[in-house]
Amino acid sequence: MMKRCAIIGAGITGLSAAYYLNQENQDYAIDILEASDTPGGKIKTYRKDGYTIELGPESYLGRKKIMTELATEIGMKDDLVINNTGQSYIYAKNKLYPIPGGAILGIPTEVRPFITTRLISPIGKLRAAMDYVIKPKPMNPDVSVGAFFRRRLGNETLENLIEPLMSGIYGADIDKLSLKSTFPDFKVTEEKHGGLIKGMRANRKKMNSKGPKIGQFRQFKNGLESFIERLAEVVTERGVQIKYNNKVQAIKQTNSGYEITINGETHYYDSVIVTVPHTVFKDWFNDGPLDYFQTMKTTSVATVVMAFDESQVNNKANGTGFVIARNSDTVITACTWTDKKWQHAAPKGKTLLRAYVGRPGDNVVNENDEETIVKLARKDLDKMMDISGDPEFSIVTKLPNSMPQYEVGHIDKIHAIQHYIATHYPNLVITGASFEAVGLPDCIAQAQKAALKIAHR
Ligand SMILES: Cc1cc2nc3c(=O)[nH]c(=O)nc-3n(C[C@H](O)[C@H](O)[C@H](O)COP(=O)(O)OP(=O)(O)OC[C@H]3O[C@@H](n4cnc5c(N)ncnc54)[C@H](O)[C@@H]3O)c2cc1C
Repeated sequence: MMKRCAIIGAGITGLSAAYYLNQENQDYAIDILEASDTPGGKIKTYRKDGYTIELGPESYLGRKKIMTELATEIGMKDDLVINNTGQSYIYAKNKLYPIPGGAILGIPTEVRPFITTRLISPIGKLRAAMDYVIKPKPMNPDVSVGAFFRRRLGNETLENLIEPLMSGIYGADIDKLSLKSTFPDFKVTEEKHGGLIKGMRANRKKMNSKGPKIGQFRQFKNGLESFIERLAEVVTERGVQIKYNNKVQAIKQTNSGYEITINGETHYYDSVIVTVPHTVFKDWFNDGPLDYFQTMKTTSVATVVMAFDESQVNNKANGTGFVIARNSDTVITACTWTDKKWQHAAPKGKTLLRAYVGRPGDNVVNENDEETIVKLARKDLDKMMDISGDPEFSIVTKLPNSMPQYEVGHIDKIHAIQHYIATHYPNLVITGASFEAVGLPDCIAQAQKAALKIAHR
């Protein structure tokens, strides 16, 4: 008789888990239990009148190959598109500055652009140069990203250059964000080369020798949602049942498997892969080290899209977008000039702006309605560009509690939790963005790991 596996959640993690489990072991009848009536979770694409606009995540990092490989396996290789490269900016001290050439996630690797930028004062530059003489220091078991970079490059480079680029990815407070859980390679580079700038320059040389520079992000010509639709189609063709409007209320371990309660009814499964955010599964599992998820924080963010006729927007900065340093007085945290970054995103003659709102600890997203959020975002954008008239349309997508916060010590707690689950919950895996990494390819990689665990038990 076939064994039954329930996968909770039909986001990118849940769908990928179903794909890999089915590929590895066909002895499982797989049900994906999804609370809403569509797949994709945070991934949503607006496709209308020649626009292809991402309302949640925007793209993925091409160097994380697993997503491109999965796209190829499901027949979407020809749909892949690469971003246009262009100048990016930082809005700091209420002004837009080009990111100095050669800076990798804010870390300077070329002397001339760093020396000539007005983003950092002469004293700030001298302090950053001390990276060449400051000895690496053991930082065990973990430190914040802020503490690490403040020590190496100084407060000014951290606050004006590194923080806006790095903390945006996690919607996080850089002085709480765990280095070991998010950017452990910087510590490795520092130790290997005796300094960060020296190490990053060496890494960069190696990368440059690999060939011409192309955009580092990937997308699909019909948006990320087209990838989700195809993945859902492939797993369905292979016999996986995606059960929409099936909100899981409880999971109970029995002698031989798990009882899952959906809409007041109990269903039996031999194995379970949980892929919902920790804000959901913390009500189902809180024993032993799993109680960590009771207090793990999240940040609420929103994306704000505004479409204009190009004649309405006079943008003196020629580039693909900007991030915002926290020393600036804005509600938005970043903005992409989307029509410049992605050729497929807007019809010719239109300017598409896509901004993010929501920082850790602020309540802008939760306390304001969509109309107010558009107004607040517009007020900020008017500081950076000359915009006349109202947008042809705008879309606000609120994503409450959507960014899990990996605070100092996170990854060690996760390893302890994974060990605990493996020994206390046979044939059950909990995974997804609350665990090892938040990026889309990382979610796929975690899903694959979870699927292989179940397949080989
Ligand atoms: C604003 C924003 C921008 C981002 N940008 C990027 C980016 O550009 N690139 C990148 O790589 N990453 C980005 N990320 C991160 C990435 O989008 C997420 O980490 C990823 O989408 C998480 O996928 P998931 O499948 O793990 O979870 P989710 O997408 O949250 O899916 C979980 C699913 O579970 C369902 N569910 C919830 N509760 C229940 C229940 N009780 N029973 C059954 N089903 C339930 C939900 O409806 C949902 O479908 C971004 C994240 C945010 C919030």
